[in-house]
Amino acid sequence: MTAPITQDVLTIPRKLPEGGKPNLVGMTRDQMRAALIEAGTAEKQAKMRVGQVWQWVYHWGVRDFEAMTNLAKDYRALLAQHFVLEVPEVVTKQVSTDGTRKYLVRIAGGHEVEVVYIPETDRGTLCISSQVGCTLTCSFCHTGTQKLVRNLTAAEIVGQVMLARDDLNEWPVQGAPKNETRLVSNIVLMGMGEPLYNFENVRDAMKVVMDGEGIALGRRRITLSTSGVVPEIARTAEEIGCLLAVSFHATTDEVRDQLVPINKKWNIATLLEALKAYPGLTNSERITFEYVMLDHVNDSKEDAYRLVELLRGIPAKVNLIPFNEWPGAPYKRSSGNRIHAFADIIYQAGYSSPIRTPRGEDIMAACGQLKSATEKQRKSATKTTVQG
Ligand code: SAH
Ligand code: SF4
Repeated sequence: MTAPITQDVLTIPRKLPEGGKPNLVGMTRDQMRAALIEAGTAEKQAKMRVGQVWQWVYHWGVRDFEAMTNLAKDYRALLAQHFVLEVPEVVTKQVSTDGTRKYLVRIAGGHEVEVVYIPETDRGTLCISSQVGCTLTCSFCHTGTQKLVRNLTAAEIVGQVMLARDDLNEWPVQGAPKNETRLVSNIVLMGMGEPLYNFENVRDAMKVVMDGEGIALGRRRITLSTSGVVPEIARTAEEIGCLLAVSFHATTDEVRDQLVPINKKWNIATLLEALKAYPGLTNSERITFEYVMLDHVNDSKEDAYRLVELLRGIPAKVNLIPFNEWPGAPYKRSSGNRIHAFADIIYQAGYSSPIRTPRGEDIMAACGQLKSATEKQRKSATKTTVQG
């Protein structure tokens, strides 16, 4: 957090959703079809209409019915009369010295969530949120100190991907050669909230994002991180099909009860059973075990050996996350030596054990730092905010 801060803080004014009209963004194809019929589209034509609107919205990134030029003028007017196409409003954007971008976005009700874009040489990962706050209270997580305000809608989840593509200028340009390199090439559901406590909306949103006629991100480019909501794990594979990451963080129930309190409901043994049964689990689709490195809490060599034992029989990789500190946090980050010693033991046992490089620390965009820190940052940032 000592890195020099080069911030690009700006305000992009945009209208909040117009009251009342349903938002076509975030609807599955079936939902959109039903909505179009209800608005007066002939049943026979509805499937085709969905295809056309879908392509405008999710392939071309168009958000103005008037611009949908292959639709008759009357039909465009009908759409505009009944529907809106809205994504969350970007309130501020900050750019880290390492290129990480953090968007603070406002959703209906005036609530705010954060979205983080992390560019790397071979990929660009968008970290999106599924809830405002969280019902769970993991003791090392800043989001966990904030009560759950509400679940995000599917529109608000898909909208995070769309607004990032807007900002990165990633929508294709008609007539221009196809751009093969994707800026948002991967999505991780690792922002604010527990995605499996908002299952239906997350599932519907990911269906939209994966649809081949639109944003078209393959299911293996999406990773959902859960703290361990056991009853929803099998459904994640069946109904979404994305990759799974689990916030493991401890090797005994005693310690995990403290760090990830949901462990009191579904303990390590129960969680591991559910993971072993994860449908379609193969070596190429290994489960990621996230493990936050907390100094002298869960980072001993004994922990590393115990973790290896627990992983036995599960195609897994271990992602070690150096703890990101936040004001008032009851933990310290493990030393580099302890993290490396831990990683070596896991690696020697045959599991990949990368250490996650904290990204965007200077703008408080790293794992577990979201939201409350932003409020603090914004207070000082308002001085430099450019009103558009
Ligand atoms: N609620 C989900 C997803 C969001 S958290 C979950 O818990 O899995 C994304 C990851 O960041 C989780 O592995 C979480 O445990 C981790 N994390 C939370 N706070 C952190 C912090 N302060 N430092 C490092 N990692 C943290
Ligand atoms: Fe919620 Fe995940 Fe944070 Fe736990 S780590 S409080 S589940 S966001």
